[in-house]
Amino acid sequence: MKIENFIRDISDFPKPGIQFKDITPLLLNYNALVACANQLADLVPVNTSIDKVIGVESRGFIMGAMLAERLQAGFIPVRKKGKLPHTIISKEYDLEYGSDTLEIHADAISKGEHILVHDDVLATGGTASTVCSLVEELGGVVIQCNFIIELNALKGRDHLHVPVAAVLQY
Ligand code: AMP
Repeated sequence: MKIENFIRDISDFPKPGIQFKDITPLLLNYNALVACANQLADLVPVNTSIDKVIGVESRGFIMGAMLAERLQAGFIPVRKKGKLPHTIISKEYDLEYGSDTLEIHADAISKGEHILVHDDVLATGGTASTVCSLVEELGGVVIQCNFIIELNALKGRDHLHVPVAAVLQY
């Protein structure tokens, strides 16, 4: 199953100059969906126990939950500002223009827990490194950040001080 056949390039979305990697064709196809989740799970080093998988809003929720099921782990949503109902910790991070804030429930992680961070695309790494900071603030240990797609030219992995893995490299 070639996962890359189910990724669609959309030029100039959401703004001019961005080549958007659209995963919705992958989500439409049951066999591709299952193969992708299996390949993501296979990226996790063998004999490594994962307590919880984080999915980053919103496309990271989909495979993140499928990964959690495969790794027999819990699932934690990391969300944009103002969406989580209970006590949160939050971190602001810089975007190309302006800034954004990510939040996690303060009781989502216990000290020393092994965490896998998942998102659909690794671009500049700003999102994933912010999530790693939140995990560490709560005392968790990031075992790996994993992605369906890594955009190599943007060197996102250089901003992450944890193991990084992706199913597809562009
Ligand atoms: P970054 O923080 O720059 O690594 O950006 C990662 C976040 O932005 C992820 O949540 C992605 O879903 C989204 N993203 C960034 N660039 C793209 C792209 N070219 N195609 C699809 N999603 C992207």
